[in-house]
Order: sequence, then structure tokens, then C-alpha cells
Amino acid sequence: MPSLIEILTQSEHFLKSKGILAARLDAELLLSQLLRYNRLSLYLHLNDNMEGHLLSQFQHMVSRRGSREPLQYIVGEVDFHGLSIAVDRNVLIPRHETEELVDIIISRFGNRPIGSILDLGTGSGAIGLALAKHFPKANVLAVDTSQNALLTAQKNAIRNRMANIRFMVSDWLENVDGIFDMIISNPPYLTDKEFENVQDEIKKFEPKCALVAKNNGLADIFKIISTTGRSLAKDGVLALETGSFQHESIASFAKNYFGKFESMDDLSGKNRFVFLQNNTKFRLPSDINDSTLPLSFN
Ligand code: GLN
Repeated sequence: MPSLIEILTQSEHFLKSKGILAARLDAELLLSQLLRYNRLSLYLHLNDNMEGHLLSQFQHMVSRRGSREPLQYIVGEVDFHGLSIAVDRNVLIPRHETEELVDIIISRFGNRPIGSILDLGTGSGAIGLALAKHFPKANVLAVDTSQNALLTAQKNAIRNRMANIRFMVSDWLENVDGIFDMIISNPPYLTDKEFENVQDEIKKFEPKCALVAKNNGLADIFKIISTTGRSLAKDGVLALETGSFQHESIASFAKNYFGKFESMDDLSGKNRFVFLQNNTKFRLPSDINDSTLPLSFN
């Protein structure tokens, strides 16, 4: 029986030969997941031998990674804003930028009496669940056009014991009734050209419909902007994650639907988030900080 260290070394070489850059790290993370060790325990057990049935399970995991399947799908879960979110090929793997969007919302609106939140295109449920946790008094509705994605999202609500969220099939706002204090979405926004250049992990395994939108990546964003008005409370806010070259087009399109547009950068300094509101009075001076770059219409 081979030892864990021998298995790790072989797996590292195999993954390297498949072009995986963080080969050693990935092998360690997969082995930790299989053996239910944290990485420190793994290091303490490196000289242990591995039983045959575990070895074949591990080889299967490593060969999946070798075919460029994202580590997160093989491990089956990711941390998102302190929640354990199960992920599978029906849902996009939550990105760090999307955690940033949740952070911004919490820091700007965390003290407001937010009663209702709508998460459009929820996928794994990550945004809706993180907001359900941070706004425990709010009712969250999370919708997606994919029934399979919603099954994963529902599983995640149970996994995180979140009771103030419900799920519904809807193509953006099509089946949505009611008025919301906050509508949030991380819609598909990549252009076809951008998609051509993404790494194999994304291109071959993540749901393309959650990534790419027509009209240079803007079709779904425009659809949301042009249809959310009727579902937004008077002082409500529409918060979107977007592509980094889209804010001028979005500002000019949104002019017809919203009184106020704000562009915000992500931590890497790229235009990434858009906040739209009807009522400028909703914005208190305390909301204004250095990372806020208002692109005024007037
Ligand atoms: N930020 C994601 C990526 O670059 C795209 C997510 C999205 O389209 N909503 O892979």
C-alpha cells in the first residue's frame, strides 16, 4: 500500500503534466476532502498508508481534475461569505467579486429596515443565502430559470439552516409578483469573445448560460434594468454585478428607467458593480465613500 506522501507526489506530477498550475495544492485539497482531514492533519499523516478503496476514489478525483474539471465541483462545496455552498455543474461557482458585492450591500444597507429581497438568477443560491443570513428579518425570494440550479440552491438553504428564503422558477422577473426593497443579480455578462478566452475549467464545465449574454454581454442586464421598476419599492435599490467594460453602456441605457446610477469598482480596481435607484433621497451622506464613483445623468 502506498503512503499518502507517495500518492501526493504522483498526483502532483500527473496534474502538472495536464497543465494544472497549482498541482500540489490541488492534490492536497482533494486528498484532504476525501479523508476528511484539514491540511494540517493531512501533513501529520503523510506517512500513513492508503487503503485500496480510498486510493481508487482518489485516483478518480485526480483524473477529473486532470481533465480540467474545476476543483470546486470535485470537492463539491465552496465557502461563500462564511456559508458552505454546495456546487455542481448546474450552477456557477461563486466568485470572489460576488462576495464583494454582498459586502458592499451589507456595509451600505445593513442598518436599514430591509423587508424583502429578490435575487435574480440565483444559481447555487449564494447571494440570496448570504443576504438572508445578514438580513434575518427580510424575506428573500431567489429565482432562476433552471430547475436543476434551484434544486442545488434549495439544498444549500437546508445545509445552512436558512428559513427566510424561498425559491421559484422564473426567467428573470417573468413569474415574480410583489414589491422588493432590494433586487440583486449576478447575471451572465461575458461577451462571446471573452468566453472564447476563458480557461478550460470555465469553458468546458460551468454553465455557459450563466456566463455569456447576447448583445456584447449586455442583453440580460438590459432586460433586468428595463423590467425591475414595477417590482422595486419606491426607495428600493437594484444592485448588479457586471462586466468591467460595460458601465458607460449601462448608464446610458438605465437613464430611461432609473433616476440614479452609481458605478463601483471591485477590489482589483475594475468597474464591477452597478447600483440603480429611483429616489436620490434614499442615499444618505454616510453612504458616500471614496470607492463610490457617481456617474451622474444630470
Ligand atoms: N466573473 C465571472 C467570470 O469571469 C462571470 C460571471 C458572470 O457572467 N456573471 O468567469
